[in-house]
Amino acid sequence: MEERKGRKIIMFPLPFPGHFNPMIQLAGIFHHRGFSITILHTSYNFPDPSRYPHFTFRTISHNKEGEGGEDPLSRSETSGMDLVALIRVLKQKYAEPFRESLAAEVGGGEKVCCLVSDAIWGRNTEIAAKEVGVHRLVLRTGGAASFCAFAAFPLLRDKGYFSTLDSRQDDPVIELPPLKVKDLPVVETNDPDELYRIISDMVEGVKSSSGVIWNTFEDLERGQLMDLSSNFNVPFFPLGPFHKHSNHLPPKTKSKEDNEITKWLEKQDPKSVVYASFGSLADIEEKEFLEIAWGLRNSKQSFLWVVRPGLVRGTEWLESLPCGFMDNLGHKGKIVKWTNQLEVLAHPAVGVFWTHCGWNSTVESICEGVPMICTPCFSDQRVNARYIADVWRVGNVLEKSMMDTEEIEKVVRSAIMDNGNEMRDRCLAYKERAEKCLGENGSSSNYLDKLVRDVLSFDS
Ligand code: UDP
Repeated sequence: MEERKGRKIIMFPLPFPGHFNPMIQLAGIFHHRGFSITILHTSYNFPDPSRYPHFTFRTISHNKEGEGGEDPLSRSETSGMDLVALIRVLKQKYAEPFRESLAAEVGGGEKVCCLVSDAIWGRNTEIAAKEVGVHRLVLRTGGAASFCAFAAFPLLRDKGYFSTLDSRQDDPVIELPPLKVKDLPVVETNDPDELYRIISDMVEGVKSSSGVIWNTFEDLERGQLMDLSSNFNVPFFPLGPFHKHSNHLPPKTKSKEDNEITKWLEKQDPKSVVYASFGSLADIEEKEFLEIAWGLRNSKQSFLWVVRPGLVRGTEWLESLPCGFMDNLGHKGKIVKWTNQLEVLAHPAVGVFWTHCGWNSTVESICEGVPMICTPCFSDQRVNARYIADVWRVGNVLEKSMMDTEEIEKVVRSAIMDNGNEMRDRCLAYKERAEKCLGENGSSSNYLDKLVRDVLSFDS
């Protein structure tokens, strides 16, 4: 498009839904402000470009040119890896192809205003951007509160928090109130040193960037944003919630399954449904899966449960459910492989979101005024859960270790029947504040104006 000439932004998402979704929403926001968008994407988990006709997609493959053949980083090769190993391999394998793709884009003639890369890519993208003389902004897809904990990793390590015995899990982390030891954003891995390297590379990559874009809003995380910005000498742009900006991306075509979900929701009473989903990466043991299934069923509340293939370790999908479980559910429960979560959360039938507290899910729930039951699995989810329960007070924690059928039944029932109302009111208040932040002269709108000015003034 003619008017977008000289206003090209290159984006480099991490190839997981919780990172790709906010990057593509941000792309929509920039596009709406008159920029053209090129997405450099790994061949791993390559998205369907036909869903985003306004953007140009380029595959970066770690195959050397001319070698041809299948991309060796296949799903089967990575299926047994823990998340830390997977991120290490992605960073290693795609560093050089990214460098080459970025150079090709920048050398292509049209002026490139800047690169926006996911914070997890770390300093690899800094080196590549410097080589071609392009400014680099970072998108942090998690919240500011959890980033405070990531930034404190060296201190926490020196103080021995990561080698803390199980018996101290409930102790406070005095440097990071209100966190407890069990809330620290660690990931179960065979290689804790590698986790530490990934985190410190992310933090260093943020410090050396030309600015950090956050999918959060000031009225939610003002204190945490201020703490961070006093230690990081780079501009911050909290523009969130991204999915509520009024640009926008073309609506997703509804699948048959989406339509069935909507039909099912339409038949439920207002605020009566428990929506349960644990995101795109977390996995659970078969035993936990069965406890959840029976707990939901015995609660006698209506539920919509996303069981992603791969959610239950060692199984394909639902085969570990006892014979007849689904038939006995009748219309009370629905199990699906995936939903359009934004639509589900916005539906008046949904009364509570049982979530793993991924950051996108957290923001999406808050911004639809839906209180949460928090069962964090790893990483920043633990910090988010503590903030949801103790700071914003819009949910309760149901720890994985406490998750048996009776406890689930109790928590789910009380979330719908007894104590949902106060939390819902607080949630609705945040929803309103989010809307204010996005409105005229709201903080997210003002930051967006400043970001656009900064990007246009970059001299690359
Ligand atoms: N999501 C969805 N349908 C589902 C489950 C998840 O659309 O059935 C989306 C959800 O709306 C969110 C993203 O996938 O935008 C998950 O990101 P989050 O940060 O919550 O968790 P992660 O998957 O990264 O652990």
